[in-house]
Formats: sequence, structure tokens, C-alpha cells
Amino acid sequence: MLIPKEVKSIINKLEKAGFEAYVVGGCARDFLQDREPNDWDVTTSAVPEQIQKIFPDNFYENRFLTVTVQTQSKDPKLKEIEITTFRSEAKYSDKRHPDEINFAQTLEEDLARRDFTINAIALKLRKGVGAKSPEIIDPFSGQADLKKKIVRAAGNPNDRFSEDALRLMRAVRLATVLKFSLEEKTRAAIVRNAPLLKLISIERIRDEFVKIIESEKAADGVELLRRLGLLKYVVPELEEGVGCGQNKHHIYDCYEHNLFSLKYAATKNFNLAVRLAALFHDIAKPRVKKGEGPEATFYGHEIVGARLTAKILERLRLPRDLSVKVVRLVRYHLFYYNVGEVGESSVRRLLRNAGPENIEELLQVRYADRIGSGVPKAEPYKLRHLRYLMARVSTDPISAKMLKVNGHDVMEILKISPSPKVGQILDILLGQILEDPKKNKKEALRKEVVRLGRLSDKELDALAREAEKGKEQIEQKRDEMTKEKYWVT
Ligand code: ATP
Ligand code: MG
Repeated sequence: MLIPKEVKSIINKLEKAGFEAYVVGGCARDFLQDREPNDWDVTTSAVPEQIQKIFPDNFYENRFLTVTVQTQSKDPKLKEIEITTFRSEAKYSDKRHPDEINFAQTLEEDLARRDFTINAIALKLRKGVGAKSPEIIDPFSGQADLKKKIVRAAGNPNDRFSEDALRLMRAVRLATVLKFSLEEKTRAAIVRNAPLLKLISIERIRDEFVKIIESEKAADGVELLRRLGLLKYVVPELEEGVGCGQNKHHIYDCYEHNLFSLKYAATKNFNLAVRLAALFHDIAKPRVKKGEGPEATFYGHEIVGARLTAKILERLRLPRDLSVKVVRLVRYHLFYYNVGEVGESSVRRLLRNAGPENIEELLQVRYADRIGSGVPKAEPYKLRHLRYLMARVSTDPISAKMLKVNGHDVMEILKISPSPKVGQILDILLGQILEDPKKNKKEALRKEVVRLGRLSDKELDALAREAEKGKEQIEQKRDEMTKEKYWVT
């Protein structure tokens, strides 16, 4: 791993102008772990006006006192680099926004205001011999914690979380994404300060939550949130499933089942919508449960669950299209399918209800649900067959609608009124374009209509019958190909 030339060039320019400048924060952490950083941040002794003078092509965010510099890089992660002046820990009287941002004189002060030891490391470029590896400035022993794979607050953990409660979520997110554990005192301080999360804006909580759900260890992350007492400020509805036993089809309680489904979805690297649907698909079960033990029922849980999911996602202010998709996945996750038992019309209805664009994800949710139940029923063949049937019903029916001329055109060209002849001519034209789609051009077809119009009734009849046969053959051929593709022959 190397520090990109765009970052080096920015640091060099700042240094040349007489300021200190370092790579700092998450990117220094990732660099030391040989991971590719999400973004590159630079901290400097120069104040914003001085930075702006050195980089005329900048964007200044007044509120955060951060200068963003545009580079020529094509890499989206390097297009813009944020430069922040050294600052010190500000006073947070509302636990979420610093009352004011105070510039600091030294790098050490700046590192001390950062949240975790592994995030409080700076890299200084070296010149000449050894220029390849930077000098590491690590006053909180972040490197040792990186080795031990622990997230530890920089400084007094209790103070750090009570200063800024977003750090509660950041701790869990970092531990989950990096596959680290929480250092003991840090963990205890999170539990103690958990209620402060109430003060944090839902968007900032959501951003951390989404990063947890998108990570490989998503399910562990959710469970960690719960154990630390944070989940009730994020998605309290999930906790209703804890200890809510299911029936003979399941070995886990509702909460565990949701979690295992998410775990499977993450293992398979399914997208965010599928992961959220896997996590929420049975969220309403505790609310509709009737009876206890092996015969308990949960009628309507998918309907109540879809409504509940909509409410949760709205509360988390997730993008509308994502939330619409997740709600549909939850609503239809229970679809019933059995080869030979469920007909094309039901499959068509499922496609319409769930939305054709959501079907692949719906099947993924179903797989996650199955595996997450702990007692997976044999279903792959069934689902494969369903896929085949869906592909069959969703291809356009071969019909005269595909033609570039219609019945009106035929009547107008031949100056005839509605009659079976019109249908016959369309059938014949359709037969021709099924054989050779290139013939489906308005002008050519109009000429062909004129030619067919001159034929006798008998000749026309014969041609129409032949066309009908050809159409059947083509449909059959296509069905065979679809079957093969879905492996259900
Ligand atoms: P990511 O890999 O997602 O970018 P990150 O640790 O870089 O993770 P950023 O939000 O990019 O997270 O923040 C950059 C750095 O700023 C952090 O590494 C940390 O040093 C500091 N930081 C961010 N948020 C806080 C906070 N709430 N309290 C203290 N320091 C913070
Ligand atoms: Mg970052």
C-alpha cells in the first residue's frame, strides 16, 4: 500500500508553504492495515484562508471549517481530498454538536480530540531515503490496538462518549466492519452512556447502522448493538422478537431467526435491500402470535410486517425507492409455490404484486429465510421451477401486438371493413416476422398487405393455418430453452 500521489502532492505543497501536514484518521488506520481507505483526509497547521490560497481549486465548507481540494484523479476516492486545520476537542453541551470549533496549535492536540486510538494516528511523509514508508505518529498506541484488533476510546472512555454520543454507534460500526472487539472499559462506557444516543440525529445513527448492515459481519453487529443497549434507540421493534418462540418449523426465536437470515444474506453478499428485508421479514411475528409451543401461529405477519417495516424505514429516513423495495420484499416473502400445484395465473399475480424488478431479490430473501430457520426444508428445485415459470410468463406473449402494422392499417390499405380476413393477414405477417424479425418494418409490411390482399380466400386460409403452426413451434422451442436455462427439464 502506498500513499497516493494526489495526497502526497497536497502535503508537499502545504509543507513548502511552511505548514505542517499529515495523513490522518481512518485512512491512516486503513493504510497501516493494508486496507484501501474510503477517503483520504489531511490535517494541517494552516488555517482555512491559508489553505485556500495554496489550493485555488477548492470548496470551503464553512460550517465544518474544512477545505475540500479537487484533484485531477479519476479515482472517485481521490477526486476530492479534505483538508482540516488542527483542532482541539470542543465543548459539546448538547452531546451532539460542538459549541464551537477551536483551532489547535499542535498535531498532538488534534489527535487527542479523535474518538478511538486506531483513529488517532497520523502519517508524516519522509523525504529521500525511506521516502516510501511514512513516519508514524501514534500517541495513543493505536498501532498496538490494531495488532490486538480492539477498538479503544482515546483517553477516558466515559468522557469521550458523553461528549459526543455518535461515538457509541461509531464504536460498534468500526468493530463490526473491521472485525475487531471492544476493549473492556470502552465497552462498559458504551453500556453506561447508551441512553445518550437519544440525542443524536436519526440520519447520523442511520448512516452508521447502514454501514453495519452492509458489512460482512452484519448480524454480529446488530447483536452487539442489542447487547450494549443501543438497539432500542435504532430499531426497538427487533427486540420484541427476543424470547418469542416459534413453532415446529423453527429452532430459533423470532429475533434469532431474523438475525440468522441477515447473516446468510451477508455471507452471500446480497445487497442492502435484501439484507434489510431478511432482517425485517418476520419483525411483526411477536405482534400477531397466537398460541404457544409447536402449534403457535403467526397469521398475517407479512402484512403487519410490511407496514411495520415501512414505518421503521421512514423513521430512519432511508431513500424512498430502497424502502419501497424492502417493504415489498417483506410483504411477499411468504409466497407459496409448489410445482404442479400453483398455476401460471398465480405466478403472474406474484410477479405483478412483488414487482418483476424485485423477483430476484425476493428469491434471495426466501433463501435467507429458509437457511435462517435452522431447519431448512428442501426447496431449491421448487424455487428453480418457480424461476422458470416466471421467466415463461414474463416474456412478451407472441402476439400481433409486436407487428409494426395493426388491424386498422390492414383495413385502411385494403379498403375493407372488419372481417376474419384482417386477422388472417395479421397472423401471416406475424409468422413471417417470427421467422425473420428484420421484416418487421412498416413500409415492407404495408407492401406485403397489398400482396396478400390480392390472394383468393382459399390461398389466404392455407397461409394462415401454416402461420399458426409455425407459431406453436416457436413457442415450444422457446419453452424448452427456458426450461433448460432454469435446469428443470
Ligand atoms: P471510514 O473508514 O468509514 O471513513 P473513518 O474512521 O475514517 O471511517 P470518518 O467519518 O471518515 O470515519 O472520520 C475521519 C476521522 O475523523 C476518524 O478516523 C476520527 O479520527 C475522526 N472522527 C470522526 N468522527 C468523530 C467523532 N464523532 N468523534 C471524534 N473523532 C471523530
Ligand atoms: Mg474516513
